[in-house]
Amino acid sequence: MKLYPIFADLTHRAVLVVGGGAVAERKIAALLGAQAQITVNADALTPQLRRWVNEGRIAYRADAFQDGWLDRIWLVIAATSDRELNRQIAAFAELRRIFVNVVDDAALSSFHVPAVVDRAPLTIAISSGGESPMLARLLRERLETLLDHSLGALATLTARLRKRIRLRHPQMAARRRFYEGLFAGQAATLLRQGRPRAALAAAEDALATASMELSGSVVLVGAGPGDPGLLTLRALRALNEADVILHDRLVSAEVLELARRDAERIEVGKQAGNHHTTQDDIHSLLLEHARAGKRVVRLKGGDPFVFGRGGEELEFLRGHAIPYEVVPGITAAVACAAYAGVPLTHRDYAQSVRFVTAHCRSSLDTLDWVALAQERQTLAVYMGVGELGVLQARLIQHGRAASTPFALIENGSRAEQRVVTGTLAQLAERAAGHAVRSPALLILGEVAALATSLAWFGQHPLGAAVHDIRDAAQLKPSSDRLSTEPGRHAKPQAHADLLVAIHRA
Ligand code: SAH
Repeated sequence: MKLYPIFADLTHRAVLVVGGGAVAERKIAALLGAQAQITVNADALTPQLRRWVNEGRIAYRADAFQDGWLDRIWLVIAATSDRELNRQIAAFAELRRIFVNVVDDAALSSFHVPAVVDRAPLTIAISSGGESPMLARLLRERLETLLDHSLGALATLTARLRKRIRLRHPQMAARRRFYEGLFAGQAATLLRQGRPRAALAAAEDALATASMELSGSVVLVGAGPGDPGLLTLRALRALNEADVILHDRLVSAEVLELARRDAERIEVGKQAGNHHTTQDDIHSLLLEHARAGKRVVRLKGGDPFVFGRGGEELEFLRGHAIPYEVVPGITAAVACAAYAGVPLTHRDYAQSVRFVTAHCRSSLDTLDWVALAQERQTLAVYMGVGELGVLQARLIQHGRAASTPFALIENGSRAEQRVVTGTLAQLAERAAGHAVRSPALLILGEVAALATSLAWFGQHPLGAAVHDIRDAAQLKPSSDRLSTEPGRHAKPQAHADLLVAIHRA
């Protein structure tokens, strides 16, 4: 059931509640808060309901329910323990096009009463569409602990200043920034301390002294590998404050979802669709929007300073005196390793790790192959899917054992993550066999053997086929050592799992 949420103004509007028990009492308490004109119909009342009747706060009818009453009613709540009566009330209401809520019967109800976090005039209503009231309640409890009670007072204070704020900051962007400052500033603190008058004075002061100039800035933000759970809190804040977001193609849709709804999003992917944004174009866009007073987020996959050209962009901004900040992100090597169960360093197998890019022939030619081919180190190779053959050949040529294990992680940390494993000798063939595509990260080194036994995320690694396992067993000192470590990895059971996985694939 998908409901359309509305907040109803029931002030002085007639509402009928049928039923006089504890549930009816709860509903009526909320209706009283909304200043509805309430009639309760029941043959017996709880003591509290009785009190409200005596105080004249609600009207009372003791006679049997009559559908004619509904003629002057806006809303009706059926809260009796008589299912048949509830059903009748619902039917009469439906006939008259009056919204009805039947307690604990989502199907009979034409409106639901949500779980509410009350910071009046601020109200948060939660509904599970009747599917899981427990979950809605749990969520409400969480929100209760997160939201300070002074929020209501803050909303009231805002209401008092609203017109003046609009006059002083006619432009939406400036207004938004003023409000953000207000909500995070002295006035809010004073409200939390229960000092509304001082808070109002502080807010008025801020309004009088606020700068009219909008100063633009750029935050270079690392979006991580894709899973939005891997964003930093700072990244999230920057995304919420952004006026403009310039993002790479690599940034996942789930991460972009978290950004401010009305922020302008511009994809500057280097291979996006047909258009090709050069680095110079990106620089111009940054400058243009920052100079227009916008808060620009330059959002990059992984970390902006790891193969992200973040340095060049900062140099450019510095050259044009645009203020900037940098928010680091979880880089692909770190994320893919974690999500493939491959520790990048390990006391027994690797004392160092290198981040390398292998994105074209010329970049490959400038690499120090002797150093890369050394044992007991882990290579994390970015942008390498196109050059795996060359990589494999050069590493072996420079002395890296052909039996060195690898794990190739495609779409690391995302729902569609795939991990392909094998030995250096099989690297290019295996990647081609599984049609591995960008973005993919290669982890090469003794630690990569752990991918088969420590995997925990997504589908099981696509490992060696039968003959490969036999080949691998005949090869290599290093990964033999790995696979015979007791109780750790590459157990017969793991191989069996692998075979099943391959079969399925
Ligand atoms: N700044 C980014 C790297 C940009 S270079 C970072 O710190 O991660 C782009 C390369 O990163 C891709 O070709 C791929 O090798 C790697 N990469 C980025 N995201 C990835 C992901 N989710 N899974 C696998 N590799 C990824």
